[in-house]
Amino acid sequence: MFATSDPNLLIGGMATGGLALAALWKLVTWIRDAPVRPDPWDGEVENQLQAAPEICPHCSTPQPPTAWFCEHCGRAVGPYNNLMPYLQVFSEGEVFRNGASGQFRRRPLILAGYFLLGFGMLSFLAPIYWFSLLLNLRSPETAQEAVPEEKTQ
Ligand SMILES: [Zn+2]
Repeated sequence: MFATSDPNLLIGGMATGGLALAALWKLVTWIRDAPVRPDPWDGEVENQLQAAPEICPHCSTPQPPTAWFCEHCGRAVGPYNNLMPYLQVFSEGEVFRNGASGQFRRRPLILAGYFLLGFGMLSFLAPIYWFSLLLNLRSPETAQEAVPEEKTQ
């Protein structure tokens, strides 16, 4: 592990590793012992949320609990779609379609992710996808309103 013959460097490396482990342990205990914040709503609202039917996040159509795709808009709505190897392909396709012809939040990090994802998944076809992405960026029809920043307490 330590490719050195100097015992001082070996001891220094071990001390650094020990300090890193101690800092990691301190971080874990700090997170574990952090106070739990109560929900900002009361029990009645919690019961209503638990009893409410699941809806499609794209078109707000009510979904049965066993649905994988929305019957109205065809988008992935299942809770484990992104974890199932076969269904994951459809979710990834939905992400690519949103970049090329749909709406997405136009933030620099998301845009960089689309470029890297296009390069990683499409390899030599990536420039075609990037061209579609840039056309979609310039299109005023798919421009999404700016999402207000969340307030932190
Ligand atoms: Zn839908």
